[in-house]
Amino acid sequence: MNNNCQNLSQNLNIKPNIQNDGLTDIHEGQSLHFWHEISTSQPQNLCIHQMFEHQVKRSPDAIAVKLENQYLTYRQLNQKANQLAHHLRKLGVGPEVLVSICVERSLEMVVGLLGILKAGGAYVPLDPNYPSERLAFILADTKTPFILTQGKLVSQLPPHQAKVICLDSEWEKIAANSQENPVCTTTIDNLIYTIYTSGSTGKPKGVMIPHQGILNQLLWRQETFKLNANDKVLQTISFSFDPSVWQIFWPLCCGAQLILARPGGHQDPSYLVQVIAKQKITVIALVPSLLRVLLEEPSIKNCRCLRHIFCGGEPLPIELIEYFFERLNLNHVLHNCYGPTEASIDATFWTCQRQIKYTTAPIGRPITNTQIYILNENLQHVSTGEIGELHIGGISLARGYLNRPDLTQQKFIPNPFNHKNSSRLYKTGDLVRYLPDGNIEFIGRVDQQVKIRGFRIELGEIETVLNQHSGVSQSVVIAKKDKIGNNQLLAYVVPHQQQIPNSIQIRRFVQGKLPEYMVPSRFIFLDQLPLNPNGKIDRQALHDTNLSTPELETKFVAPQNEIERQITQIWEEILGIQPIGIKDNFFDLGGNSLLAVKMFWQIENRLGTNLPLATLLQSGTIEALSAIISKKYYPKNRSLVAIQPHGSRPPFFCVHGMGGEVLCFRDLALRLGDDQPFYGLQPKGLDAIETPYTRIEDMASHYLQEIRTIQPQGPYFLGGFSFGGLVVLEMAQQLHQQGEEVEKLVIFDTCLPGCSQRSPFWKRIILHLDNAIQQGPNYLLHKTTSWGLLVKTYFQDRYKRYLPITKDLPETERYLKIVDANYQAKNDYKFQTYPGRITLFRTEDKHRYDVVGMEYDPQFGWGNLAMGGVDVHYVPGSHFSLFEEPHVQIMAEKLRSVLG
Ligand code: AMP
Repeated sequence: MNNNCQNLSQNLNIKPNIQNDGLTDIHEGQSLHFWHEISTSQPQNLCIHQMFEHQVKRSPDAIAVKLENQYLTYRQLNQKANQLAHHLRKLGVGPEVLVSICVERSLEMVVGLLGILKAGGAYVPLDPNYPSERLAFILADTKTPFILTQGKLVSQLPPHQAKVICLDSEWEKIAANSQENPVCTTTIDNLIYTIYTSGSTGKPKGVMIPHQGILNQLLWRQETFKLNANDKVLQTISFSFDPSVWQIFWPLCCGAQLILARPGGHQDPSYLVQVIAKQKITVIALVPSLLRVLLEEPSIKNCRCLRHIFCGGEPLPIELIEYFFERLNLNHVLHNCYGPTEASIDATFWTCQRQIKYTTAPIGRPITNTQIYILNENLQHVSTGEIGELHIGGISLARGYLNRPDLTQQKFIPNPFNHKNSSRLYKTGDLVRYLPDGNIEFIGRVDQQVKIRGFRIELGEIETVLNQHSGVSQSVVIAKKDKIGNNQLLAYVVPHQQQIPNSIQIRRFVQGKLPEYMVPSRFIFLDQLPLNPNGKIDRQALHDTNLSTPELETKFVAPQNEIERQITQIWEEILGIQPIGIKDNFFDLGGNSLLAVKMFWQIENRLGTNLPLATLLQSGTIEALSAIISKKYYPKNRSLVAIQPHGSRPPFFCVHGMGGEVLCFRDLALRLGDDQPFYGLQPKGLDAIETPYTRIEDMASHYLQEIRTIQPQGPYFLGGFSFGGLVVLEMAQQLHQQGEEVEKLVIFDTCLPGCSQRSPFWKRIILHLDNAIQQGPNYLLHKTTSWGLLVKTYFQDRYKRYLPITKDLPETERYLKIVDANYQAKNDYKFQTYPGRITLFRTEDKHRYDVVGMEYDPQFGWGNLAMGGVDVHYVPGSHFSLFEEPHVQIMAEKLRSVLG
């Protein structure tokens, strides 16, 4: 332990914890419920901000918090938080006053949280990405007198009665206050925060947590995992979920560095891996589904700097633990943590080991000052191996739910076991059992609460919202595992017969009321819900039906001819669903653009027909595809593809990338909403019949002709992805020459030639050496092989040369022709200055950095071309995934505001 933390522990008089290695066996007959308690003497009564103040004294000049190139030392952070605290005090903030804070992940977020605590108040996090109706509910429920926010977010706040304080634009006023620590007016029994979690009766509920629970949580962590001044904790979890609390305050109370992932970055695995390696992060927290995606990243090998990975929020599959060891080979660093918001973050944990005999990862044993009771319905202890409901006691329990005394009484019950440290028990609703070695195994839930990517969701809350839609008569939502074992939400809806809504309308409605993670991935319409013999809704019957259940969505019609039979077979193989009817829609069955590529590739192989992927947008059923293939129906081969043609707003036209396909824009088009028409532009030649254009000027004038059939005159809203960025530039140039107005020219991740340069040779050598030291000899082996392959590929196979650009497309002659034509067009194009303004959406794609030591102009070179300037927006994902879920959500939000 470093000096700083040693002092802290001594100050706080903590006893060492028992090593939780899952290896200690329980002797037969030993009573588990006594064993399952580890207590330390009560730590000194310090509130979290006081712990931070002690640390400031110990390491004033060390970096406390960092976000990309901005940082604050402990002293600077403390001074700013003090200024804010004094400001809030003057306004009346003190113990038990709830102060809302609506900010993006930023240095201001940390200053804001600490400032509220130092003033004596408790914070209520408001995620700016939540729909305004949810934020409005929280504001009304808390009756918070103040909202701390950032200037750019003020207009997003719902109507409220609170006083708004902008942490950026009003900083000068705030900074007029004293930089000294305010006198502490709180005790550890006062609230530190109120966090809202899903509520089964239709409204979220605020969990009120006092300082004491968080103090215990941080002390347990410090005693067990021992952060030191060299540690860097990556803050990834939204501050509206409680694991963010330890991510933020643990490093700040122990002299480590808090590294903030940039806003939106927590959803982008390639960015996360890059930050971990670059910043040498030692501690992170992940839900299992994100851990899996991260492990699949090729550069995860660069992340051996990690000392502790805290996984939790949902069951951790054993197979994922094995995969973890296979990919990272780090011992004693992966921990399975368990705990509800109501018990101040984590209540139990288990450090993962290799090749264990368990079938699911245990949730381990309790943390300090926490008692675990596994009880039957009569609140009696169950024996080892028997399943019971997990009850938690101890000093970490929440005070209860804000304004919900009924629910508080129901979930926080008197402790029937007379324990000195816990007069109450929290009924978690989790079914668990003791394993013979004393660890606890998670089995499932007693109720309808589910976890989706670690997010806690009461299905009843979604059903309540669905039932508020005027076209919905009844609804049931279930969580069902998809092919790779991730839960997805399915909504079964019985519509009102007079007013049958479609799934897009219902989705929009739900999106307006619930956070994104609570929006079902599919809406399935039924004439009636299945009932069990008692007349109750039979949820199990919905679970038991095959995920596909096409017969429930549309009337099932079996294939009628050989072509339909063959396409059906292909769909069943690719979608993993059986049976599929010829009237079922590809996208309603869970199809996406990646699966569409595979499906059309199979159709090309087996039936010899070449079709642009966008055919699926108008002909999305087996019946319709079969009609095209058997030439019963000839679709017009146009470059203009109506991806989402409805809505009263001016249409947005978006040009294809190097491979030519535009189906990849579908998710973006849908996310922009049903009032924003969205058209894709695809090249000639995707049908393998027409000849592709080889000059950008010709493509541009052809696309303009097509666009004019929809919108004869400007102002135009245009976009282009990758290679399409060059084509759309030329379109805008031609429009300007014709005296037309281009309202927006949006470029998606296109780098202009010459916008990058390689670092000097010596710098590249250092980078290679650094990589080799971090990754070992494998790095050199990998590099030399890939250089060799590159040379071989370049000469032997012209298509392979393009692979990074046309990822996911099959290697067929028609794609090769399109890519060749586009390449030639790109190389021949003469760039000229553009009189207007450009909006650039750019990723921080690691693929671009595959060549070690590549340095890019932040504006990707557009600054030299656009006389009206460039607006740069960073979006998550890589060059290949920016239009995919979940990245596309952020992209859509930003694009919506750009399009006005
Ligand atoms: P939350 O209040 O969002 O932290 O959610 C708490 C719930 O998540 C628990 O009651 C469990 O149902 C579930 N949960 C949390 N951690 C785990 C875990 N490691 N394994 C299984 N379920 C978990």
